[in-house]
Amino acid sequence: MYLEVAQLHKQFKTRNSPIVALKDINLHIEEGEFVCAVGASGSGKSTLLRLIAGLETPTAGEVRVDGVRVTGPGADRGMVFQNYTLYPWMTVAKNVGFGLKLQGMSEKERRQRVSYYLDVVGLSQFSNALPKELSGGMKQRVAIARALASQPKILLMDEPFGALDVQTKETMQQFLLQVWERTRTSIFMITHDVEEAVFLSQRIYVLTSRPGTILREVVLDLPRQRDYHIKRQPKFQDYKEEIMGLLRGEAVEAMVAGG
Ligand code: ADP
Ligand code: MG
Repeated sequence: MYLEVAQLHKQFKTRNSPIVALKDINLHIEEGEFVCAVGASGSGKSTLLRLIAGLETPTAGEVRVDGVRVTGPGADRGMVFQNYTLYPWMTVAKNVGFGLKLQGMSEKERRQRVSYYLDVVGLSQFSNALPKELSGGMKQRVAIARALASQPKILLMDEPFGALDVQTKETMQQFLLQVWERTRTSIFMITHDVEEAVFLSQRIYVLTSRPGTILREVVLDLPRQRDYHIKRQPKFQDYKEEIMGLLRGEAVEAMVAGG
């Protein structure tokens, strides 16, 4: 098992009563797999990703990557956030190579690594551009190249296309599948967009809200290589309906319970 989340529990102290953000989370991601977790806002998606990234500490339970317990951030986990997190004063190439420099990689090796991953994301010609000269989709491609440059065991993505317009988002989804195909990286992405999850992943964890728990695991029997045409197939629509139904039922229950 590559990434394993066991009995994970996260509670936040607040001025009023404590908030249970995540309760009894058990999940796993195998080497080379593309897995999504979907849930409404407030279902603890970002908290889950931050715990896996080592940016938060669990209240109980643990995260293991390749058998090793996570106690903090590490180069074995690459992270891409929704909001562009590039350094505005650094060129594209400097942004991509920044983490490698911190790791003490020589300049020569760094240059090769950066140019390889800029090629993977199709931005070789923009290596000397500044982030402000790029569109939103291009900025996210730089962020993906930066995360991949450290050659992490797993790429963690927190609603990476949430801020993009519909057309750019579709292009980026297709692009991400190509990157996955080419790099064979394991990917764990969280999103509230059900169609996005069905389009991208091989397996989906459906989350409940307040507290965030795993309601269902859905294994998608769809071809590994996909393009947007698949979205029109009945099987694709069925998966989408099934998961939206689960989330809808969950929202109704929360309302009845006064949540
Ligand atoms: P999502 O990403 O699915 O929208 P989050 O993980 O951001 O959900 O949040 C889950 C719950 O935990 C929410 O109720 C949120 O208010 C709460 N929460 C998240 N981070 C903190 C924090 N640092 N302090 C207190 N409450 C938090
Ligand atoms: Mg979030």
